[in-house]
Amino acid sequence: MKKAAAILCLALTMAFAGCGNSDDNTNTPDTNGEKNSESVSGTESEQDPLADGVLNVGTNAEFPPFEFVGDDGEPDGFDMALIKAIGEKMGVDVVVENMEFDSLVASIGSKIDVAIAGMTITDERKNMVDFSDEYYEAVQYVIVPADSEIASAADLEGKNIGVQLGTTGDFIVEDIKDATAAQYNKAVDAVNDLLNGRVDAVIVDKNPAQVFGEQFKDEVKLFDGESPEFGFEKEYYAIALPKGDEELAKSVNDALAELKADGTFDELVTQYIEN
Ligand code: GLN
Repeated sequence: MKKAAAILCLALTMAFAGCGNSDDNTNTPDTNGEKNSESVSGTESEQDPLADGVLNVGTNAEFPPFEFVGDDGEPDGFDMALIKAIGEKMGVDVVVENMEFDSLVASIGSKIDVAIAGMTITDERKNMVDFSDEYYEAVQYVIVPADSEIASAADLEGKNIGVQLGTTGDFIVEDIKDATAAQYNKAVDAVNDLLNGRVDAVIVDKNPAQVFGEQFKDEVKLFDGESPEFGFEKEYYAIALPKGDEELAKSVNDALAELKADGTFDELVTQYIEN
């Protein structure tokens, strides 16, 4: 949306209604009775995102074992199974949209209702979205070629480091002295460039790193970022929710708690992560 139109839309929104929803994630309410009408600011114009009985979920199916494209071409993985189970408890259908990780947060309240994508709770994201209760602990791992001499955070200084765009791995590289982040939309492309010698290391979450480590067993080695040599902080995954929608947050959290209590959550961990 152009700036002038955005201002006009804002004025109209404040007056009584809203603007036709365009594809640009501006989170303006619409008047055409379609979905995607929730205001991210949690104002009175907010509508129930579940009014149509559908929970529209965004993910980025490039993050095994949490999400990947299954044999049938549809997103599969731990997060997909979890959100479907949550939807079932909530009594709504779950429709998944596979999109770029970097656009998930901005799309909540317009294209999608919520996002589940192995997404780490961060203060920066909390400015734009709310998070459900956390459901998984993670940390960044460092992948290097099998013959690399990199073995500590200090060794990463000045290096070219492959990351997935807009992820916490990407943010870590910002803090490494003289390091350059080579940003990819898919973490596996970063790993391929590691094998091609185009990047010196890849920083990615623990479980995907382990999947890639297994896939390219003889060619790479992995470091646990939580080790004293690297000293990265623990991270916690949660479902990203529209800001200020306490009702939706409560139903998601209640469903999550039930799935933890009845053993379903642990079954999914065994099935998808610890197998
Ligand atoms: N946990 C990381 C983050 O939230 C990476 C998530 C992902 O790539 N799907 O930034």
